[in-house]
Amino acid sequence: MFFRSVLSEHVDEILKYAARHGCDWLIDEMALLLLQKRLDEIAIYLPDDLFKRWVLYYQMWVDLLQYLRILNYGTSCGHQVANNDAATLRKLGGVESLQNLDLVFSVEDLCCEGTKATVRAWQKGLERLIQAMPRFSDPPVKFVGPPGGLRDA
Ligand SMILES: [Zn+2]
Repeated sequence: MFFRSVLSEHVDEILKYAARHGCDWLIDEMALLLLQKRLDEIAIYLPDDLFKRWVLYYQMWVDLLQYLRILNYGTSCGHQVANNDAATLRKLGGVESLQNLDLVFSVEDLCCEGTKATVRAWQKGLERLIQAMPRFSDPPVKFVGPPGGLRDA
């Protein structure tokens, strides 16, 4: 916990240090924080080779977002409430919103308990998917979602 709060306060200095000394593990530790930064901010701190790897890593998260956007969740509960799925996905922003899932998947505005339970299950599935994402130090891979969508995550 202490380490995390130090990281968030000194992310720029630590990134410079990690880049200078080739500390992939340090970038792994900071990856979720760094994903909140724009690529042009990251480019300032990382030398070309590391930055290129960061872009590949970042793209994996962009692909995860894209996968979420095209997923047809299907929460039609027969209540004629205009598109529960769209209401949830509208709250999904950039890569940084994947770290604020309680906000994205807030269920207050949803029409019924059935739909709320479905949306909570998506969030659990997505959390499992995020935990299984490769680390920065792993070889880059193309993101492929689970075969049955978040239900199979
Ligand atoms: Zn409903």
